[in-house]
Amino acid sequence: MGRDIGADRHYIARTRNQQTRMPVTPPRLPVRRFSAVLILLLMAGCAAPTKVPAPLVDAEDPVERADEPEARDYPWCDAPPLPPADNAYRERMEAINEEFGFPLHRLQIEGLRMLPDADALQPIEIDPNRGMLTMSPDAAWAWILMRAAARADGIGLVPLSSYRSPGYQTLIIRNRIARGDTMAEILHTSLPPGFSEHHTGDAIDIGSPSFPGLGQGFAETEAFAWLEANAARFCFELSYPKDNPYGLAFEPWHWRYVRRAQ
Ligand SMILES: [Zn+2]
Repeated sequence: MGRDIGADRHYIARTRNQQTRMPVTPPRLPVRRFSAVLILLLMAGCAAPTKVPAPLVDAEDPVERADEPEARDYPWCDAPPLPPADNAYRERMEAINEEFGFPLHRLQIEGLRMLPDADALQPIEIDPNRGMLTMSPDAAWAWILMRAAARADGIGLVPLSSYRSPGYQTLIIRNRIARGDTMAEILHTSLPPGFSEHHTGDAIDIGSPSFPGLGQGFAETEAFAWLEANAARFCFELSYPKDNPYGLAFEPWHWRYVRRAQ
């Protein structure tokens, strides 16, 4: 599996090397004055009548909040929507797809839209066989939390593929054409350059230790059952379920980070 990550990608590595230095000698506390103030505060607390804290929200708030998707209750789900694909990129992708003879209009009618190439990526895994896997910073954070939660439940989630550039997608399609696959066969299991969710850095193909490859058998694993029950808490959604409207095969391995107002 190639890692065609453009040289112009920016990698965000978060470090913790900017911690404030603590003074070597701690400041001397005015112990006597501090104790006196503490005693006075404690006495005042004992003497004061018990106060019931005022509610922070009025009665109408829960009704308004009920309209929000459940996933929005988690801070790692509150990522801004993706920017639209810009015109130059759009024209480039259309030219490539025209060369392949892909029916772009049909794809757009079926609800697939052109997706932007990620402008920032963060490593999520360095694997001796697969190289470095990356995701958009928002999706990477949610993925790390989800994988840790699964591990705490005794479930292993294995990242198989995440960000893929439009250039790499083009290579995949060229190889399939060279292999003799028909257009219908290609569009049943691959998306044309510009339309793959993997370009955005928000999609990830997931396997498990017992099923470390792409295949519909993943749907029979404990890892898939765990994802079905829990992925929404981490804002991940199955993109291509059975009988999806895009005419794509069922892909139990392919999950997408869901952004705000997407
Ligand atoms: Zn995928």
